[in-house]
Amino acid sequence: MVKVSYPMCAHCPTRVCENRGAKASDGPVSLEKAPAFCPMKLMPEVYNEALSEYDKPEVREFARLASIQEAECYERLPDGLRTKLPRIEELIQFSRKCDYKRLGIAHCGGLFEEAALLSEILENNGFEVVTVQCKTGAVIKEKIGILANQKIAGPEDWESMCNPIAQAMIINRAKVDLAVMLGLCIGHDTLFIKYCKVPQTVIAVKDRVFGHNPLAALYLSGSYYRRLRNKIE
Ligand code: SF4
Repeated sequence: MVKVSYPMCAHCPTRVCENRGAKASDGPVSLEKAPAFCPMKLMPEVYNEALSEYDKPEVREFARLASIQEAECYERLPDGLRTKLPRIEELIQFSRKCDYKRLGIAHCGGLFEEAALLSEILENNGFEVVTVQCKTGAVIKEKIGILANQKIAGPEDWESMCNPIAQAMIINRAKVDLAVMLGLCIGHDTLFIKYCKVPQTVIAVKDRVFGHNPLAALYLSGSYYRRLRNKIE
């Protein structure tokens, strides 16, 4: 058998880290049944390092509020646990918990209407909302080396490049408490994250085919999108 030397939680047969069914009073979790590729076995020193970060008061408080918000997304009914909050309400509630006053939305031009709706909803809930769309700056795509035949609009047409670095700089300068990414493309979101200096969260990622729900492709990968599971030789 090949010895794997990196974490592979997604293939874990036991998930002992969840410690399901145990009581809080039962004491530390045994790693006996954890697989060899478990990060708790491969990199045990990481956990003390991570826990010492949570000892920083501001990090601890942020993590505490996030966990409270997580729990508030469920309700316990006589027939079991049910979910109750869509992510937009989760965003509003968490922002209130953190006492955020000003939120920044970094959105794609293709989600202009969604950005306006989200902005209105957040404003109606008492937040100041800064919004910046990806094409801001109106810089032609050729500026970053895009060739005429690599444009979406057509070889002769003007096409403004997505400018996530400018989006991040504007969000930074607007001194928002939290930046919210809405539908940024893969790669553009990476640059936004790299340059944005305020706390960030995501309300939606871009998926042009599945209404910005990329997991739909996974849910259909046993049928219409089986090709996704083909192994490349
Ligand atoms: S942390 Fe370890 S036990 Fe938990 S899912 Fe990953 S491999 Fe499994």
